[in-house]
Order: sequence, then structure tokens, then C-alpha cells
Amino acid sequence: MTDSISLPAHHWPALEPGWVWLCGAGPGDPGLLTLHALNALRQADVIVYDALVDERILDWAPEAEKIYAGKRGGKPSAKQRDISLRLVDLARAGRRVLRLKGGDPFVFGRGGEEAQTLIQHGVRVRIIPGISAGIGGLAYAGIPVTHRDVNQSVTFVTGHDQSGETPASLDWAAISRGSQVIVIYMGMKHAHAIADALLAAGRAADEPVAIVASATTPAQQVLETRLDRMAEDIAESRLEPPAIICIGRAALMRQVLDWQSQLAGEAPRDLDPLGRGRPAEQG
Ligand code: SAH
Repeated sequence: MTDSISLPAHHWPALEPGWVWLCGAGPGDPGLLTLHALNALRQADVIVYDALVDERILDWAPEAEKIYAGKRGGKPSAKQRDISLRLVDLARAGRRVLRLKGGDPFVFGRGGEEAQTLIQHGVRVRIIPGISAGIGGLAYAGIPVTHRDVNQSVTFVTGHDQSGETPASLDWAAISRGSQVIVIYMGMKHAHAIADALLAAGRAADEPVAIVASATTPAQQVLETRLDRMAEDIAESRLEPPAIICIGRAALMRQVLDWQSQLAGEAPRDLDPLGRGRPAEQG
């Protein structure tokens, strides 16, 4: 399997000794890797990877040394500096270093901090973006993160701050007013507080919510609920992180766009879930 996908002809960059490539691995499904990521996996001699990187992806680099640098969200990031310095050491030892992170390295992934530390230490870096869970994970649940009839903006929010608490620094009233669709990373633990804050800020109790857990993996699960019941439903359903919470009417589009259920032979539940009475393309 490993060699069955060859890269198309192109001038692919070489991962030189002493360099670190900071690379997004996407939300899970190995097919969502970029070609630059595949090129990196082919060349790395050491891979430093996070908890959210799907293990199947590591199989594509059978020769490389694998170093696990996982830490789960919400915990104080005491070890972040250690990870960055470890990367510096590996680079200085002349290794070809691939730093693999779940989703996109610059979306709630501390990729900016790691790259900054590397550059401050004189280590050369390349950044390889990845598909972020808040976009690609929702797409695998049949939810378009923007949809013309629903939203002209989308807000990506982290449910944890650095101390592991709900981000009290966030202006939930402004978020609530300013964005029809709110996509929350790391929101499971504080789902109750987040829902309360949004309800207090005036969002409708029956606002559609979808929670997509382990998106794009074989274990993907989707919970459809509404804002005022979201926390209870999460608790009852025993959904486990990692999960993305999508708040807003875009979640309704899943009723027509749940392509995975359709692959499994199910009919769409509703061809016009927003009640437009016409296909949106007719203007
Ligand atoms: N850099 C990552 C996000 C890291 S923060 C990205 O761009 O996707 C970790 C959070 O990402 C998790 O708590 C969860 O909210 C979300 N996440 C990552 N992978 C996920 C997946 N496969 N399914 C659902 N949520 C995921």
C-alpha cells in the first residue's frame, strides 16, 4: 500500500537535514492529507506527532522514527516549550523533521508558537496547511460552514482558554450578534457554559446545533440537537471528544447533504430543509 500512490510530476521541495516542516494532517481520514504532506511523509526521518493525528497516516512513513508529543486539550500547556525545544534539538542534530499536527497547524494548534520558537533558534521551517476539523469535519457530516441562505460570516471559537476554563475573555454577546454560524473547537467540556452564554446573549433556544465527534474517521458520530438542550444531549449521548460543535442554521443542511448516509443507501431526509421552496442556485 505504502508505495501505491506516487506523487504527480512537479517540482516537490526536498526536506533537507536540519529543517522542520510543520504540517497539518487533516482531521482524520488519510485521504484528506495534502500532497505536500505526503511528500513530507516520504522524506522525513523523524516525525513528531500529536494525539489528534490519525495513526493510519504514520503508516505511510514506515522507516521514520515516530515521537509522540500528545497532550489533550484543556490541560495547561506546560510541555509546549519542551516540544518546541525538542524540535530545535532534532533539527540541530541534522534530522529531517516532520512536525505533524491534527487539522491545520495554525488553527487552535499552537503551530504559530512552535514555528516562532524554531525560527528564534535559527531553525529553517516550512509550513504545510491542513484541512481544519471545523471546516472539513463538518463537511463530512454534510454541513457547509457557509451557505448563502444562512450566513455571510462564520466564527471559529475555542471552548478552552490557556487555563482550561471557558474562555471568559470572549465577548459572547458580540459573537452571538456578529455571526450566524459559530463553530466551536474544544467545546465539549464547557458545552453548558457556552450554551448558557449564547442564550443569555439572545440566541434562540431552538437554534439548530450539530456536534460531530471523531469527524472523518470510521468512528464519526453526529448529534443533532438545539441550543437549549445541547449540553444535556451531549451528556446523554456520551459523545467523546474530539468533537466540533456547529451552532446555526447551516446545521440543518445536513438533512439534505448527509452524503455519508446516502452512500450507505439512505434517502435524504428533506430536500429543502431551509424551506426556501426552490434550489438556492436559482437566485
Ligand atoms: N488544529 C486542529 C484543531 C486542534 S484543537 C484543526 O485545525 O482541526 C483540538 C480540537 O479540534 C478538538 O477538541 C476538536 O474540537 C477539534 N477536532 C480535531 N479533530 C477532530 C475530529 N476528527 N473530529 C471532531 N473534532 C476534531
